[in-house]
Amino acid sequence: MAKSIERISLNSMSPGTERFLKVHRYGTKGARPKAYLQASIHSDEIPGMLAAHHLMGLLDAAEARGEIVGEIVLVPVANPIGLGQIINGSHSGRYELRGGGNFNRHWPDLFEGVRDLAEPKLGPDPAANVAAIRAAIGARIARLPMDTELACLKASLARLAYDSDMVLDLHCDDEALMHVYMQPVHWPEFQDLAAELGARASLLCVDSEANSFDETFSLPWTKMAAAVGEKFPIPSACFATTVEFRGQADVFDELAEKDAVGLYRFLQRHGVIAGDPGPAPALQCAGTDLAATDIVRAPKAGILAYKVELGASVKRGDLIAEIVDPLADSHAQARTPVRAVNDGLVLSRCLRKLVAPGEGISMIVGAEALAHRRAGALLSD
Ligand SMILES: [Zn+2]
Repeated sequence: MAKSIERISLNSMSPGTERFLKVHRYGTKGARPKAYLQASIHSDEIPGMLAAHHLMGLLDAAEARGEIVGEIVLVPVANPIGLGQIINGSHSGRYELRGGGNFNRHWPDLFEGVRDLAEPKLGPDPAANVAAIRAAIGARIARLPMDTELACLKASLARLAYDSDMVLDLHCDDEALMHVYMQPVHWPEFQDLAAELGARASLLCVDSEANSFDETFSLPWTKMAAAVGEKFPIPSACFATTVEFRGQADVFDELAEKDAVGLYRFLQRHGVIAGDPGPAPALQCAGTDLAATDIVRAPKAGILAYKVELGASVKRGDLIAEIVDPLADSHAQARTPVRAVNDGLVLSRCLRKLVAPGEGISMIVGAEALAHRRAGALLSD
């Protein structure tokens, strides 16, 4: 099968404008396994788009050789709305300027109505159950609103992704080491993604309560298993992950080419593309509970002066940064220390150096779940 390209028009929000998604489809529609990849739903996170560009080159060549076994759907620009949000020279791509909030939050709960629709069709065959649940999720997506440009974007991306065996959402952090998020149930089978990409942290979480893109597709299976798993076999049939391709400034062909090869090898190992990639490289991290990762927060407003580098190993009580009050009466009174509350790896730092109280300034990946992280939402907005 030749690659096909689909153009999906998004509802225009002002006369004379039109934005669209471009979808690259490889392999045969309906073939398994199906992998869905999209880049930069946070549209100011550019590394994912460059990795997708390089992956497209590899996939085009594989398609020409007839080596796409399953189906691959690649959306190299997942958010044309945010891509245009340049305000006085600064790109603001995390939140929709019309008030729709964080582009990677508030995704619809695709479990809604799924149990009622699917349960009468469930039985002892796990594969048949997967088909029945997928059909019910598809019916739920068909009812999603399409009225605004943002609603149209979300429903369109959901429709492309929901029936995939693998959903990879390519992001980046502010300033960070490579890391991935996924559900604990998928960690053993899919840990080679972390290995191939050289991830320094694999953050495992059932439900971050963020309604993020990846969880939109993995959670219905978790919820269905919790609801009827004692009566019927319900596989966790959608591996969905957020991949954080380091930091916003880490946009280089050398990195993106290597990352694309890692993604390609992952897709080969999981049967989407023909060919044996061989063993995955050694893992550079364990899979750790997201609740074991602390988000260090600024205690007050001021200038952020870091005292640790990315990748540093810190102990509880170590100095992470000082917040400098430029209005203090003296140099001695100006500095407020910010200390680690857990032992762990400094995974990320903030690019902006003027902070407000409560703002997250660093993620420290520990091994043991932290009491203050057990309850409530685990991701910052
Ligand atoms: Zn992001």
